[in-house]
Amino acid sequence: RPIILWFRRDLRLADNPMLHEAARTGRPLIPVAILDPVAESWGAAARWRWGEGLSVFAKSLAQKGARLILRRGEARDILSQLVAETGAEAVWWSRTYDPDGRARDVAAKARLRANGTGARSFPGHLLFEPDAVTTGQGTGYKVFSAYWRAASRLDPGRPLPAPGVLVPPSGWPDSDDLSSWRLADALRAGEAVLRRNSAPGEPEALERLSDFLRSRAAAYAERRDFPAEDATSGLSEYLTYGEISPRTIWSETGKAGGNAKFLSEVGWREFAYHLLHHSPDMARDNWNRDWDRFPWRADNADAEAWRRGMTGEPFVDAALREMYVTGRMHNRARMVAASYLTKHLLTDWRVGLAWFADCLTDWDPAANALGWQWVAGSGPDAAPYFRVFNPVTQGEKFDPEGAYRHRWIAEGRKQPQEDALAFFEAAPKSWKIAPDARYPSRRIDPAEGRKRALDAYERWKALK
Ligand code: FAD
Repeated sequence: RPIILWFRRDLRLADNPMLHEAARTGRPLIPVAILDPVAESWGAAARWRWGEGLSVFAKSLAQKGARLILRRGEARDILSQLVAETGAEAVWWSRTYDPDGRARDVAAKARLRANGTGARSFPGHLLFEPDAVTTGQGTGYKVFSAYWRAASRLDPGRPLPAPGVLVPPSGWPDSDDLSSWRLADALRAGEAVLRRNSAPGEPEALERLSDFLRSRAAAYAERRDFPAEDATSGLSEYLTYGEISPRTIWSETGKAGGNAKFLSEVGWREFAYHLLHHSPDMARDNWNRDWDRFPWRADNADAEAWRRGMTGEPFVDAALREMYVTGRMHNRARMVAASYLTKHLLTDWRVGLAWFADCLTDWDPAANALGWQWVAGSGPDAAPYFRVFNPVTQGEKFDPEGAYRHRWIAEGRKQPQEDALAFFEAAPKSWKIAPDARYPSRRIDPAEGRKRALDAYERWKALK
């Protein structure tokens, strides 16, 4: 009897513990992906990017003699139906760790087992299971440096090879056509523009890693903060959809040697999942609930200008436009853009979190929540609220020649760059923006915005 392999964020052949183990059983295997309410709740760019990943992964599976079966609906219902159709004895999957994914998986496991079907979950999305790293008291860590010191002492093991040919079932169940899922429909940025900037899939991820280790890793620690440079790995979206495993990155990087800074960034991803495991509410609520009384503004006109890359603060606008066009934003730019929204514009971090979730192709439920709460000051091990990034001096320091700003801002330039123009191509007509219009004036003077944020902080502290 076959085993159903339910793929979600593990779209790879190599170092996939679930697939590796399944292939070893010698049983017929039926790979499945389900557009379920959890996936439907993802942001537009994430859903689209997942679809792109599925399309490449289906081809990789086909080379192994397998088909990726696509179905739409509540996962527990679809899986039970597939078991009934195929006589499968079990359903296997790689674990997810965000609260929505976990709730779905628990429900699926209960339903399958109640019907006498096996259900088994595997690691693979992380280097270390979130509860494998504990303090002397057996609790989770709240500070990254201590967490990473403890985690780095563990051995994640060696990456597993890709399987050989997979045994097919006696007949393949029906599958949806990927196009019928219409995953591009909700994209705000034009699909054509995003597609130009996207290269999904496992082969591309592996190529990117080796290219990074060969040509950029040595200068990573020194250059990673300069958004105009191609100095980082660009692997986040591949990790998000499991097109590469963190263990492969760990192992290949370790072999190259001397890349502790890069590995510690991969460690931040681990830490984000560690925190989310221990505090699942942090995806939606202030990690430190004292912040519930902070006078952040709800969504407002300034935040709308921020979303549109029209705040009049060039470094911030460049960041938002980069995300709109490419589905990515440089880490330094993420920090400055997030700080500007939560501090200068005094707006609730969840307004920004939601926009990132809608626009990022590397959207990750744990890293996004940690990033926003780190900047806002409400998270564990966060930057203190009174440390307000100055968007002007950040630009001077990390974009000294203005190359990043010029790349993304067309207004006021005789010959705007192609990327700067792509933003206008991608933006909805209803925004009524044009590259030859005047660049907007500032929403708020940086010094005034800083003062307003610090005053709010003092008032809040007095309340505590
Ligand atoms: P590299 O510098 O090459 O780092 C290697 C890998 O380490 C990354 O691919 C990523 O998986 C991980 N990593 C690096 N920095 C961080 C970090 N600060 N936190 C967690 N993991 C990290 N990252 C996401 O993957 N998805 C998100 O939704 C996301 N939202 C963010 C929101 C905010 C407000 C901030 C400040 C950061 C956010 N990050 C997020 C983290 C970080 O900005 C990106 O992971 C990074 O820019 C991706 O580029 P890269 O792959 O070239 O990273």
